Amino acid sequence: MIIVLKPDATKEQIQTIRTELSGRGLLCQEIRGGDACMLGLAGDLTGISADSLLRRAFVERVVSVSEPYRLAGRRFHPQDSVYEIAGQKIGGGAFVIMAGPCSVESEEQVLSIARDVKRSGANFLRGGAFKPRSSPYSFQGLGLDGLELLKIAREKTGLPLISEIMSQEYAEVFGADVDIIQIGARNMQNFPLLRAVGRLGKPVLLKRGPSCTLDELLAAADYILMEGKSPVLLCERGIRTFETATRNTLDLSAVPVLKKKSHLPVIVDPSHGTGYWDLVYPMALAAVAAGADGLMIEVHNQPEKALCDGQQSITPVLFDRLARKLRQLREIIHEDGSGKNEW
Ligand code: PEP
Ligand code: MN
Repeated sequence: MIIVLKPDATKEQIQTIRTELSGRGLLCQEIRGGDACMLGLAGDLTGISADSLLRRAFVERVVSVSEPYRLAGRRFHPQDSVYEIAGQKIGGGAFVIMAGPCSVESEEQVLSIARDVKRSGANFLRGGAFKPRSSPYSFQGLGLDGLELLKIAREKTGLPLISEIMSQEYAEVFGADVDIIQIGARNMQNFPLLRAVGRLGKPVLLKRGPSCTLDELLAAADYILMEGKSPVLLCERGIRTFETATRNTLDLSAVPVLKKKSHLPVIVDPSHGTGYWDLVYPMALAAVAAGADGLMIEVHNQPEKALCDGQQSITPVLFDRLARKLRQLREIIHEDGSGKNEW
């Protein structure tokens, strides 16, 4: 923590605050440059609040240089986390594709898509049963019936499931029924929900909130991790910016930045990230090049009739082409066979 003092702070005031902070066991170093005077604080800062420091008239600003997360950070966990989820390795150079419809609409629909994406090499079937729609008049998902249809698809294809939970009241159902629990972008900072899924011990895919920073994403991951049981996958799915040509702005620099800050696997969702089916293909390839550990892609057998997100869903034929290209690209990028980007 750095305390920036006002230019008119007196020697006595500086000495008083230094004595007080040193008395609390902190290292308190005075830094001077021209007229500016700052105090650099190191040590256990729990209990030292910026608010209480700012109450002193001679303090101009307090700058926090510590991170708002711990468990998700590399400082406490330098090695990449590698998970084995439903027989699939995630992280540490392995690569997974989660594919399927935005929302489960019928048994025929979800089965047909599941079979197609499985044939093309998808590792997980995605499908929304509870849908977080911006308008209350839009299709809200089939709810528990949708989960049952996903389970039928898992049984018939062998594909493990990922589906979004929207409310704590279904925590136990999701804990029992799906292989990865998705926390949607809109719920990234629903802290009671994060704690509840963290207690289940089931893997969680945490999507970045459209207006959230990467540090906020990692702090949200800590809410899940601090319950001590659930593996966490981070997901970049586009953020809200001034650009209107795309639904969201897919922040691909988030991938290497998250890799630097965190040991958790990073998944990219180019479907919600762009909002347009024809942008999914190039951005999926770009995500792999950026070092993503996996992709989440919306696939629909009849996108023009989809009840949700048809404009950003690709057909099974295009998904097959994309999956092939992704494999080729990975071979080029990971020439040394380690599965790791080389930089
Ligand atoms: C989804 O995956 O269908 C979804 C609603 O995603 P997001 O939370 O990223 O909008
Ligand atoms: Mn969707």
